[in-house]
Amino acid sequence: MKITTIYILHNQGLYATISQNIQKVIIMFAKFEIKDIENFSNNLQELIDTHQDKIKELINNPSDKYEDILMPLQDMDEELSLFFTPLSHINSVMNSKESQKAYEEALPILSEFHSKISQNRELFEKISSIKYSDEESAKVVSNDIKEFKLSGIDLPKEKQKELEEISLELSKLSNEFSQNLLNATNEYELIITDAKDVEGMPKNDIESAKEIRDGKVVYRFTLQIPSYLAYMTYGINREYRKELAKAYSTRAPQNAKVIDKILLLKDKKAKILGFENYAELSLQRKDAPSQERVIEFLNTLLDSARDYAKDELDELKSFAKELDGIEDIESYDVAYYSEKLKKVKFDFDDSITKVYFEQEKVLNGMLDVVSELFDIEFKLTDIDSWHQCVKIYDIYENGSLSGRIYFDLEAREEKRGGAWMNDYETRFIDSNSQTHLPSAFVVCNFSPATNSTPSLLRHDDVVTLFHEMGHALHHLLSRCNQRSISGINGVAWDVVEFPSQFLENFAYEGAILKKFAYHYESKEPISDELLLKIKESKNFQAALGILRQVEFSLFDFMLHQKLYQGDEVQNLLDSIQEKTALIKPPAYNRFQHGFAHIFAGGYSAGYYSYKWAEVLSADAFFECLDTQVGFDKEKAKGYKKYILSNGGKEDMNVLYKKWLHRDADVKSLLKLYELI
Ligand SMILES: [Zn+2]
Repeated sequence: MKITTIYILHNQGLYATISQNIQKVIIMFAKFEIKDIENFSNNLQELIDTHQDKIKELINNPSDKYEDILMPLQDMDEELSLFFTPLSHINSVMNSKESQKAYEEALPILSEFHSKISQNRELFEKISSIKYSDEESAKVVSNDIKEFKLSGIDLPKEKQKELEEISLELSKLSNEFSQNLLNATNEYELIITDAKDVEGMPKNDIESAKEIRDGKVVYRFTLQIPSYLAYMTYGINREYRKELAKAYSTRAPQNAKVIDKILLLKDKKAKILGFENYAELSLQRKDAPSQERVIEFLNTLLDSARDYAKDELDELKSFAKELDGIEDIESYDVAYYSEKLKKVKFDFDDSITKVYFEQEKVLNGMLDVVSELFDIEFKLTDIDSWHQCVKIYDIYENGSLSGRIYFDLEAREEKRGGAWMNDYETRFIDSNSQTHLPSAFVVCNFSPATNSTPSLLRHDDVVTLFHEMGHALHHLLSRCNQRSISGINGVAWDVVEFPSQFLENFAYEGAILKKFAYHYESKEPISDELLLKIKESKNFQAALGILRQVEFSLFDFMLHQKLYQGDEVQNLLDSIQEKTALIKPPAYNRFQHGFAHIFAGGYSAGYYSYKWAEVLSADAFFECLDTQVGFDKEKAKGYKKYILSNGGKEDMNVLYKKWLHRDADVKSLLKLYELI
């Protein structure tokens, strides 16, 4: 039978009129817009009320077929996401009082809805009874059941109540932790009165520090990261560096008590849910198979990097001795001498490479690379979006439309800082058998063009663009039919950075950069010498960097393997630093009081994820790399087929094994940093 594809527009109900001979119906992309921002929260509430009613109907539906229950539930997820994402996105990229107000009003409505769902015992029982026939459906059901269980759905009422109280208390404590840290950061200042002590610092750092006090010029440094790092990296006066470092590492001593409370409650929570400790609970949502494997992995990294790190430190020590006669290098000297050593070794900076990375050329070049790598085509479209600088491409695969990507790359006042990928639509088949196509936004903050120059990127920016594109492709090249495991949905936290880091690695390869790095004025290609410097400087002091990450990861993970209180926390850190810190930290150092990732963020017993995903990305990168032409197209096909197209369909280590018939090798990560 002839299979015809017909594209229809979102929410136009056209499918009702389509002839029965048509086999495949594709829903076209949603138009990006926020309807009626003034009444956003009312409209959201209305949508949620209809969803609540539909959920009740589904619970009372006598069918136990997957199609009848879980597909309509996923349709609702997509509907809600399409309603809400434009607002959260606009609030980040075109922020206004209006968007803030709507966003702030919408958040509690959404979170109340989600918490009601996670406590809906009837829905849990309904989903638990569902019959399914294929792999994807099985994964959706098992994920849902797992989430319900992790929210304590099948516990007795009083235990549920206790869990609820613990969660509330934990969110207050993490807030308190951040607040203490913020206050301590803001309370401190170092006033330098002698201009000699800021000599040699970059002009903009000096300018930011400059103040007039009592009619005199002084230089004010604080514990805010840009100011603190500026002096630690470039500040010539050793005593001031020492003073700043001490102030920084002794911030917020009152957080010791907060940490004790947090650890106690997390341990309690894990035990109520039936786990041995909080680390075990954390791994329920991760790809890493066991606590032992996480510890073993971190120790392997540590053992492999340690000797290289010693060499790196020795090089730094002799450099500091030669330069300034420093006999005992201290932790507060490391950034300062490292910067100087780097300059001597590589002698190049952003201004030298920038002229070769014209924004438009880099974007087009990256799209060419990705097109070739994954056999897809990008076609620029001229539809409207939220800003005139946004570039929108439709993606075609084998001649058929398969996705859409929006690039919003330049900094502007209304945009929040940093870079990110945001998924908008998801590829899936809905309960009316219609295929939905995926779309995503890539957002960066590159310098816009000036009167005299086009927008030029730092090499770091090029890396960032490749990184976010890697996330976007993970979402856009999905071939999953079930929404909640399609694209980046349902992908475990500790492997989510795998496709982004994979693509990022190519941005250091000469063969790739040569495709688009031409001087914006002379049109000369970038030199091999400069390409080599870009690559080599990436691995400058890589082993010392690994040791630091391993230290944070081991401390975080072990701290959640049993209950540590009071001095035990410091003792644990000390015992880890015996192995990881090549320069003994001063006795007053209380690094943990500022470890916001784990005490005020979502990383507890999960900090290892950074390195865990990096092993996969490094291993996959070498598999697909061809140093002559950039990449091996045949190998990349496998990466697309087994990894990118499968989203959260199976655990990443399973997908990986299906692709290469082996596990990712830690050695690849060491090879990436040239530590092997
Ligand atoms: Zn990322």
